[in-house]
Amino acid sequence: MIYEIGAIIIILLFIVGFSFRGTEDDVMVAVKKQGPPNEIPMMENAPQLKQTMKGSIYATSIIQKEKEVIQQEKNQKIVYLTFDDGPSSDANELLDVLDHYGAKATFFMLAPHIKAYPDVVKRMVKTGYAVGLHGVTHDARQFYHSKKSPLHEMQEDQKVLEKITGVKSTLIRTPYGSVPYMLDSYRKEIELYGFQLWDWDIDSDDWKSNSKAYVSRVINGIKFMDSIGKHPVILLHDRGPTIKYLPILLNWLNKNHFVTKNLEESMDAYSFKCNDRCHPYGS
Ligand SMILES: [Zn+2]
Repeated sequence: MIYEIGAIIIILLFIVGFSFRGTEDDVMVAVKKQGPPNEIPMMENAPQLKQTMKGSIYATSIIQKEKEVIQQEKNQKIVYLTFDDGPSSDANELLDVLDHYGAKATFFMLAPHIKAYPDVVKRMVKTGYAVGLHGVTHDARQFYHSKKSPLHEMQEDQKVLEKITGVKSTLIRTPYGSVPYMLDSYRKEIELYGFQLWDWDIDSDDWKSNSKAYVSRVINGIKFMDSIGKHPVILLHDRGPTIKYLPILLNWLNKNHFVTKNLEESMDAYSFKCNDRCHPYGS
């Protein structure tokens, strides 16, 4: 009799466990359907809480809350500003402009520039911007030399950034974007070490001229991405002429109720897929 009761209890626990697992899977499917780039729900960021609450009467309400957060984020108009190649000698001015508009941004920075302007990098971290890595040489021939060379440049950059700020960033953007030189075998190497590769949705082409032409290009891109319900990652550069006209873009974003956010390590990183377009540098 005792054995029979024991067996029934075990079966009941088994069924309860499964029903909650099923509900969590539903939430994750909902998250995946949104597509990149979106933030992972709160429960994923609190594995210990997840473990404790699993199977309890509170689990359902937490899952409901997660669904609400996902829905709110879906309704929000979010853009991700990213600045490459810095920090430049104008980076303080760039932060002044961003601070003035209460904007968030992510910086993909080069090791020699971090060493040259450590104070502004500390300011970025202190003020709450996201800091990421862009390598050491910014020379395609050297950076994409072998499947290990992107990894080694990012590891070196990571060390330099961590020494100055204490932040061990895993956010990376490779020089000129990941296509066509970041072969799948190169990507595997960086993934193995936990780096998250980010490309972009909107290329501002800001480096092509010193005019404000890039601003309308970005605004058109944002309008299109908004029309298809996507939260775009925008490629910009940490350079004087871009900074000069940035207030026009930030004003437009504010007026049109867009919110700027940092890229986070908890997000699914968005990178271009090779799809037969990748080849080694120089071939
Ligand atoms: Zn670059």
